[in-house]
Amino acid sequence: MSDDPAHAEVLASPMIKPVCGACNLVCTYCYYRQTKDHFEGTAPRMTDETLRNVVRTFCQTAHPCPHFSWQGGEPMLAGLDFFQKAVAYQQAFSRQGQQIVNAFQTNGTLITAEWARFLNRWGMLVGISVDGPTDIHDKNRIYPNGSGSQAEVLRGLRLLQEYKVEHNVLVLVHGDNVRRPKEVIEFIRGLGEDYLQFIPCVVTGLDRSLPSHDAVDPIAYGEFLCAVFDEWIAEGPHRFYVRMFNNLVMAAAGLEPEYCVFRRACAGCLLVEHNADVFPCDFLVQPEWRLGNLNTDSLAQIYRHPKWVEFRRLKPNPPEACRQCRHLDLCHGGCPRDRFGGRLPGGEPNYLCKGYQLLFDHARPAIDRIAAEWLASRRQPPPREQSVGRTERAHKPRRRPRARKKR
Ligand code: SF4
Ligand code: SF4
Ligand code: SF4
Repeated sequence: MSDDPAHAEVLASPMIKPVCGACNLVCTYCYYRQTKDHFEGTAPRMTDETLRNVVRTFCQTAHPCPHFSWQGGEPMLAGLDFFQKAVAYQQAFSRQGQQIVNAFQTNGTLITAEWARFLNRWGMLVGISVDGPTDIHDKNRIYPNGSGSQAEVLRGLRLLQEYKVEHNVLVLVHGDNVRRPKEVIEFIRGLGEDYLQFIPCVVTGLDRSLPSHDAVDPIAYGEFLCAVFDEWIAEGPHRFYVRMFNNLVMAAAGLEPEYCVFRRACAGCLLVEHNADVFPCDFLVQPEWRLGNLNTDSLAQIYRHPKWVEFRRLKPNPPEACRQCRHLDLCHGGCPRDRFGGRLPGGEPNYLCKGYQLLFDHARPAIDRIAAEWLASRRQPPPREQSVGRTERAHKPRRRPRARKKR
């Protein structure tokens, strides 16, 4: 472990996968199943000893606010007792004055009243996945027997609402909902939800060389975002929160976005697998990107790993086409994973580039105006996240401090 503040700043936001890619659903587009293949022969659930080591490692950085993001597969499969222990270890190992933040990304089907009470008690932030209207959701987010999961997801969502658990809704944008933006927005807003994020489905082929046929069409994705943007503006940008748009306002106002895809550099949040193996990003859980193991290696050693150094150089060095792009200040070349090492047909710098260009061309005047109004008013900053993050994690600007502070 390292007390070096430079290490702590970069490494205090782990994304932790207590059950690897295990899940009670088998969504049609799930890419986590591929990652499970890399861990054959290891126990599918994080052991108590590993949990203790992982929590202690990140609590003992110099960072004032370690952010634990629990991810799957389906993290709730680890069981409530696992997370009760995680909280106990956080209490035991956190430093005086340190604030601990916990976030879950879940499919929502396993949420019970007991879970909801626990999540509320510890101020945990939950991201719950809903693909939109029932016919879309139940076609893709399915149980192994092929039946749709939306009824259970909405039951879980109602429990989060009832027990006042902070949460947001994550919509994966794919071929079945990308041409129905108004219906998707109306459905989610109709559930009483006003904190949304839209994540593009960019599934790769098994050899990870190029996007597979399940990947969302980039132009359709751009049109989807433009339509959602128009709804956001029409209703009033402060009436509901769309992570990507709020981040663009931040960027236009000269602030560094928290959404890693639009930052100058990757967020640098480590991905910790169930066996304590560490990777630079959720999208790079591959043997060639393994940085070490938290049961045997210190954060300082991981920080110096040549692959970590290589990873950190990827995003700040976008392709030449991006350097000439008028939207570079908003986009910074997008996610390096979506660049496919320059192998994209037509020489596209990023698989989603055409979609981003559509959105930026369409939204830029309004984004610049909102940013200018905020800068002129010098009142509240644009809604901003509580910590740096990446794509598929629970995210929501906090209205009140809910993190547990050690006194
Ligand atoms: S809920 Fe998430 S982890 Fe589970 S199958 Fe669906 S996409 Fe994969
Ligand atoms: S919009 Fe396209 S060309 Fe411009 S910075 Fe983004 S990925 Fe690069
Ligand atoms: S999701 Fe993409 S932009 Fe974000 S940290 Fe990973 S590689 Fe970087």
